[in-house]
Amino acid sequence: MTGKYFSVEQKIVALMIKFGIFGTIVGGISNFLQRPVFLNFLMPSIMIVFLLYISFIIKKEELFKIAEKTIIIFLNFIFTPVMWFLTGGSKSAFPMYIFSYLLTSLIILKKKEIIVFIASFSFMISALILSEIFVPELFLGYSSEVSRAADYIISIIFVSVYLSLNINILKKTYETEREIAKKLSETDDLSGLHNRRHFLSEYYRIISSKNFRNFSVLMLDIDNFKKVNDIYGHIEGDRIIKYLGDALKMNISDEDLAGRYGGDEFILLIFGKPDETLKKARIIKEEFLNFARIFDEAENLSLSIGIAHADPDNTDIIKTADDKLIEAKNEGKNRIK
Ligand code: GH3
Ligand code: MG
Repeated sequence: MTGKYFSVEQKIVALMIKFGIFGTIVGGISNFLQRPVFLNFLMPSIMIVFLLYISFIIKKEELFKIAEKTIIIFLNFIFTPVMWFLTGGSKSAFPMYIFSYLLTSLIILKKKEIIVFIASFSFMISALILSEIFVPELFLGYSSEVSRAADYIISIIFVSVYLSLNINILKKTYETEREIAKKLSETDDLSGLHNRRHFLSEYYRIISSKNFRNFSVLMLDIDNFKKVNDIYGHIEGDRIIKYLGDALKMNISDEDLAGRYGGDEFILLIFGKPDETLKKARIIKEEFLNFARIFDEAENLSLSIGIAHADPDNTDIIKTADDKLIEAKNEGKNRIK
């Protein structure tokens, strides 16, 4: 498989192969010792060669679909009927294994394939059960009740471990994907900061959960940013947005919050005394001006910042910060208000 990402199907097929090889070796030896017939040696050997072959071809991305289908067809429609007759059919522990790889097949297959699969699988199992009634002499069965009990106990343990590992793969995949989806829905992909919606929900959560605290809201907007896009192109413009996102993250502490408010406008929630916050704003602005020198053809590429400090009488601190930003723009840009 190329890359480090394994799909849930790939993980489950890999687990199935590992368990298949281990189970075939253990089950095959115990079966052969109980009933030393040639078929009881041949079937596990074919099974192991087959699984080793599959484990080799699933490594190739383009062959994975074929490997997946082959393993399902082999296990359900070839291995199952043969083992059914060898182990004693519905009265043996074998249906437990059928159940476990039936479940795996259902996880791996797609909607329409499942319908075809269930229909053919039900037909085959019905035929096998009926054959126990009409041709009972074909069944080998167990040599004693003790061996039946031993087979049941081993099978229950084996199948439970296999199924719980399957469920674990599904659970982990679900949790990871939910986590990724959450992160994506909260993050602005260009700057790596919180997007506006998530910033605002975090902002209101934080300021309402903590008793009145010493904090400030900063609104930042790049000055004359359009010129960069016009002269250097959008990709270079994006590089500036990304740079500013990184600079904001570097200059705030863990409890502070940074977001991209939209376009070239950013927002910060910074805890601390007003003079310390002002110092941080100056550093950010200075760093941005240094970086902006690269784009010397775009004149007056700078940063305007509006700051509003928390005030128990002010119910909309973000609006105040935005008004200050407008003030900074109106007074000629490249300044902190
Ligand atoms: P001002 O000094 O008044 O802030 O003007 P400005 O040129 O910076 O333009 P303004 O803030 O009014 O508009 C933001 C511009 O930023 C508009 C758009 O072309 C550009 N922009 C917005 N989002 C992106 C982006 O994700 N990537 C790039 N490259 N440009 C963007
Ligand atoms: Mg701007």
